[in-house]
Amino acid sequence: MKTNILVVEDDNAIRNLLTTALSAFGYKFCYASNGAEAIKTAVSTQPDLFIIDLGLPDMDGTELIRKLRTWTNNPIIVLSARNEISDKIQALDTGAEDYLTKPFNVEELMARIRAAIRKINYNNKSSNIFTNGKLRIDYAANCAFIDNVEIHLTPMEYKLLWLLSRNVGKILTYNNILKELWLSDFHGDTQSLRVCMATLRKKIEENSSKPLYLQTHVGIGYRMVRISDDNT
Ligand code: CA
Repeated sequence: MKTNILVVEDDNAIRNLLTTALSAFGYKFCYASNGAEAIKTAVSTQPDLFIIDLGLPDMDGTELIRKLRTWTNNPIIVLSARNEISDKIQALDTGAEDYLTKPFNVEELMARIRAAIRKINYNNKSSNIFTNGKLRIDYAANCAFIDNVEIHLTPMEYKLLWLLSRNVGKILTYNNILKELWLSDFHGDTQSLRVCMATLRKKIEENSSKPLYLQTHVGIGYRMVRISDDNT
């Protein structure tokens, strides 16, 4: 079935650009030019994925994301002219999947859309085994492997890896991660999280100073990158 995308954007030049790109890639899509119209259209068309501009005429894009998140978990990619780290954090904390700053590269947007769609398909399969490049995680047994060799992780390292893999392709902010793991060992401490990430990388990455799987977004958080088959 064709992926159904709702684009919320009031800028005509960008709408034209997206129309060309989304049609070329065979996606089904529709537009809303403000937040109220977006909510109405989202309810009637049940989109699989959202692309949302933060600067909308009637409400802030993060407000729209907050409203959508009360009833849908489908991926939201933010497109925005705002380049401040605090805006990115706010959009991601509110529940956006990904963030691209205008002017953006169309190829890159299409790649982000594909990554988000792969994640929907993966979540729908709800498998107990996660694979990504050479990494394999057996969620039922709480074990992780690289090249079929088990890697020995501390409980915290495993939880962090588990969380990032469950959200593969998505940037998780420090807040997202600390909130998810709050009840356990981090106690809201970003420094402990950094230390845990450093030791986890040493065990997972071939070269921990040039990580392939676990990407840092400086000042924002971390993302597990989906490795494409031709990278492995
Ligand atoms: Ca705008």
